Amino acid sequence: MKKEILSMTIEELEEMLVSIGEKKYKAKQIFAWLHKGACFEEMSDLSKKTREKLDELTVLNYPKIEQKLVSAIDGTVKYLFAMYDGQLIESVVMRYKHGNSICISSQAGCRMGCKFCASTLGGRARDLSAGEILSQVITAQKDLGERIDNIVMMGIGEPLDNYDNVIRFLTLVGAKGGLNIGYRHISLSTCGLVDKIDRLAEENYPITLSISLHASSDEERSEIMPINNKWGVDELLMACRRYFDKTGRRISFEYTLIQGKNDSPFHAKKLAKLLLKYFDKAPFHVNLIPVNEVKERGFKQGSEKSIQTFVSILEQNGVNATRRRRLGSDINASCGQLRAGAGSAKN
Ligand code: SAH
Repeated sequence: MKKEILSMTIEELEEMLVSIGEKKYKAKQIFAWLHKGACFEEMSDLSKKTREKLDELTVLNYPKIEQKLVSAIDGTVKYLFAMYDGQLIESVVMRYKHGNSICISSQAGCRMGCKFCASTLGGRARDLSAGEILSQVITAQKDLGERIDNIVMMGIGEPLDNYDNVIRFLTLVGAKGGLNIGYRHISLSTCGLVDKIDRLAEENYPITLSISLHASSDEERSEIMPINNKWGVDELLMACRRYFDKTGRRISFEYTLIQGKNDSPFHAKKLAKLLLKYFDKAPFHVNLIPVNEVKERGFKQGSEKSIQTFVSILEQNGVNATRRRRLGSDINASCGQLRAGAGSAKN
């Protein structure tokens, strides 16, 4: 079977080259070309013979830009990418003062079943390979002609449900000679797979862990997030605390504000009390996201005043909280919506 070359590390490329009688040093050249989005013919410092061998032994697939939307308000760019088999995924580039951030997908679809989320509507079609996760960054960077500085794994899919490929992706994206993006510029968001959070703490990647919490009791969380039936709020927050103790990295909690469900002053106080119980004086951060109204879901955003009240109650209780700025509101920039609208896969 042919190897998927974008998923290969420099060391693996070296091994492959040596096994076919090629020089080891060429691996670095190939790696650099690949991470710039070049196809084999464009690798001008390799001989034709070497390029032909690569083509015989491996497959190289960059995603095809199926659709590209640019926000007239803030320049956010949303890509709908078609993978080699027609699976559709989304990536979004957001422009901030401190640089470009890309939000990438880790699976085609999702099987976590969160009630407010568009990405899980059709279930999970398949995992993305490490190369496919990486290729979103490569293709967007090439298309924009600008460097991407930060990565958030908050697109379609549950990254920790595709653990090995995500770890391999982290190795590739941080490698010297490739995109070389520092781990402190990478965030990974999870709905709370406790066993994998513990595993991640053992890996040596100083990335930022984001937890999609969205509720502060088991009863309320289980109602909107099925994963909570497997690992409850206490188990999740204990794992977060262990992660912090092990890595020293501040955890970020995502809390989607849904009108009439979790957005009252009572809920704000309960959330502050819960997080302080586990973190006490250890640093953590809460990101508040007014729910994106997904047609199929029926959840609504509360009033502007209710959102501001929620933020101030957290702050009064000593909890560091920010309200997420909504970028790309004119292009439906939140992930999952284009894919769902396009009927999941292209045939
Ligand atoms: N599976 C991962 C990452 C993908 S979702 C996770 O659950 O964290 C990225 C973030 O967007 C999560 O916090 C998710 O809960 C949130 N989200 C999903 N649908 C949303 C919606 N309709 N409105 C607001 N936030 C949403």
